[in-house]
Amino acid sequence: MKLAPFASILFINCLFFGNLKTQSLPAIRSDVLAYEVFLQPNFSEQEIEGKEVIKFKLPTKSDKVIFDIGNLNILKLTGEHIKGFEQKGTAIIVALAKNNESIYTLQISYRGKPKRGLIFISEKEALYTVYFTSEWMVCNAIPDDKATLQLDLLIPNHLTTIASGVLVNIIHKTNNNTLYTWQQIYETPAYTYGFTVGEFNKVQEMHNGVQLNYYAPDYTSSEMEVIFNTTGDMLSFFEEKAGVPFPQKKYSQILMGNHYQEMSGFAMLKGTYGKMTLKDSMETNLMAHELAHQWWGNRLTCKNWQHFWLNEGLATFMSAAYNEHCFGQQKYQQDIDAYFNVYDKIKAKGKDKSLVFSNWLNPTRDDRNLVYFKGAYVLHLLREEVGDDLFWKGIKHYTQKHFGQSVVTQDFQLAMEVATNRNLTDFFEIWVY
Ligand SMILES: [Zn+2]
Repeated sequence: MKLAPFASILFINCLFFGNLKTQSLPAIRSDVLAYEVFLQPNFSEQEIEGKEVIKFKLPTKSDKVIFDIGNLNILKLTGEHIKGFEQKGTAIIVALAKNNESIYTLQISYRGKPKRGLIFISEKEALYTVYFTSEWMVCNAIPDDKATLQLDLLIPNHLTTIASGVLVNIIHKTNNNTLYTWQQIYETPAYTYGFTVGEFNKVQEMHNGVQLNYYAPDYTSSEMEVIFNTTGDMLSFFEEKAGVPFPQKKYSQILMGNHYQEMSGFAMLKGTYGKMTLKDSMETNLMAHELAHQWWGNRLTCKNWQHFWLNEGLATFMSAAYNEHCFGQQKYQQDIDAYFNVYDKIKAKGKDKSLVFSNWLNPTRDDRNLVYFKGAYVLHLLREEVGDDLFWKGIKHYTQKHFGQSVVTQDFQLAMEVATNRNLTDFFEIWVY
């Protein structure tokens, strides 16, 4: 995925429903346990209407909790032990009453006309989400908070949906609408929640018990069979390298729109990517990159964006590693050389930085490229440093030990040191810190 800086909270707009001013404790981030979201898109107005339930607990004592709302318009917010809320730019501060239990529940109604995060495709009844989850649901837009998600989408009968998790129910309603219910039952960060709506051609196959689905509005089934023919092999390759089976019974890839992003259980791939793959059968990098995120990114997630290279450097490196497995060492080396060239150009401009960023508030294009390409190149150097067997042993140890957790660079270094039985301080000081 590509990310814009996490928006700083601007104090512009104030809806004031509670006696917040007399309270002294600072607003904190909660630990969200579960989101339940109902959404109805309006294609002609390019708007959404939503209802949401958030179940959360507080990690420490506070009487105020903060959530991200992007540019959503909050119509109503209620809940037991909820005193009121105040909107502050792209966030809301919710005032809490005394509660003997540590768990709270919020009910929210909202409307939105997102300028980003939810892309309506003009002239079509089609849309997809990308990057900015808080533009279509209220959430903790930080990588460190993982939660489950139930997503109910009410859409016209002739359209279909693909979303995070597994489709558990379809109900035909009156007024030619159908309600699709998707459940993401293992916890993932909010930036990996997503969905798409439209009319698609579809191909389905089974691979070792995992259902693989390919969708596109603009490619035929036989074209998609060619485009996605390496997916099963890719899945097995990453399962083997991770030492952890693919966490879900279903994986979908959708060719549509103008973006790439890994979501929980599926990937959005730019519509024109299919053409690239049809022209060049060795073009697997982007598919592999997004699939690798199902482990490194979605399940082992950087604790904050300063350690973003753990998500993106690893996914970028893994696409080269898959190419080596699929097409041989020469293709791997070509990828590594390409990563090095990006890094080398940044270095020549004097813009090289440590892979662990001091902050990620306003990253430049060079900063992003460092995270992806220097990150992947450094992993290649680490592989050369410790040798093939120990490197992959380390990757497996890191993945198994931290699966489902938030990670920082020290976790990765320590896992590699344990697996290789070597002190890697010098290597990490030079290349990472
Ligand atoms: Zn990525």
